[in-house]
Amino acid sequence: MADNNDTTDTESTLSNARRQLERAAANVDIDSGVVERLKHPTRVQQVSVPLRRDDGTLEVYTGFRAQHDDVRGPYKGGLRYHPEVSAEECSGLSMWMTWKCAVMDLPFGGGKGGIAVDPKTLSEQERERLTRRFAEEIRAAIGPKKDVPAPDMGTDSQTMAWFMDAYSMQEGETTPGVVTGKPPSIGGSYGREEAPGRSVAIVAREAIDYYDWDIEETTIAVQGFGSVGANAARLLDEWGANIVAVSDVDGAIYDPDGLDTNDVESHDERPGMVSGYDAPETLTNAELLELDIDVLVPAAVSNAITVENVDDVRAEMIVEGANGPITFAADTVLEERDVPVLPDILANAGGVTVSYFEWLQDINRRTWPLDRVHDELEAEMLKAWNAVRAEVDERDLTWRDAAYVVALSRIGEAKETRGLWP
Ligand code: GLU
Repeated sequence: MADNNDTTDTESTLSNARRQLERAAANVDIDSGVVERLKHPTRVQQVSVPLRRDDGTLEVYTGFRAQHDDVRGPYKGGLRYHPEVSAEECSGLSMWMTWKCAVMDLPFGGGKGGIAVDPKTLSEQERERLTRRFAEEIRAAIGPKKDVPAPDMGTDSQTMAWFMDAYSMQEGETTPGVVTGKPPSIGGSYGREEAPGRSVAIVAREAIDYYDWDIEETTIAVQGFGSVGANAARLLDEWGANIVAVSDVDGAIYDPDGLDTNDVESHDERPGMVSGYDAPETLTNAELLELDIDVLVPAAVSNAITVENVDDVRAEMIVEGANGPITFAADTVLEERDVPVLPDILANAGGVTVSYFEWLQDINRRTWPLDRVHDELEAEMLKAWNAVRAEVDERDLTWRDAAYVVALSRIGEAKETRGLWP
């Protein structure tokens, strides 16, 4: 695992997460032993995942499941399929899940896992076999009361369906609550897919209102027009904001008068269609980050904003759609420049919040209609927003520090109340 004291900006997810924790702990009345415990995931499992390719050859991939902390409830968090997945990355991301669930006051801890693989190099049948074998390899560590995976980068509702089926077949009973983000036909929740983007939009809307800006006059650029970015952009567009630029991996499109976000197909809907869209101007992803706009939503990858490019970022506010899109060092520069950053653990927490609704529906074997999901998500987001905003107002903290204060206070209290045993 990475040295937590390194001072470079090429930092690992785990080092970024640990630095944020150390910084935030200074603002909270929390036992230093508890903070020390929280720097380390409870366990990180590494497994081999052999796959018979369609051409008959055999390939062995490496899978992981990091379980950070479960003091408030079962570990919860996504499974990602990406070439850079590692024990270290999963550990850092699992820490963020612990904070995210605590900010939202959900009865879950934090987990994250995945396989070091580029899913685009596999056929659908190969992805199915890989997922089922991975589910089998980590089965002992998973369960509706133990650890509940969900979709993340490179995985989707179909991946969760295969995972749930493999788990259920081996356990001898249909167990929908073992994963969330499933298709509704097998116990998935309506509104889960769009939930992270919806929460990004709600937090952006509340922040715009907090700073007394007029949403109709607000210009927004979204880096990453995938599931999170496209849903956030379309809602903000619907609420009157001007979405002037969006991008996918191949590049960005720009219209100073505002794009029709419903007309642009997202990367998920049809890969390649964003940069291929007939817009007044095309930009590179780097140029999108430098636009003179009100709100920037980085919703693509981790570490998109670093000390290398942060000085070129001209947005007045940043709302984090991706997990960890700003490095610790770049975040400090933004703080010095008084640019408010609405953190991932609040802004994109709609995903895990609707995952919690899904888990409740699975346990109760009762489906909620979409409007109930929307109403309850709105209520939970406003509750979390108000808790974080109160810390910002009372103690003049950054939004990230305030969100950490809310999360760490809840986790610290639970840890101290339960105690350390043996
Ligand atoms: N992968 C999502 C996240 O990073 C959702 C996790 C979940 O629903 O458990 O928040």
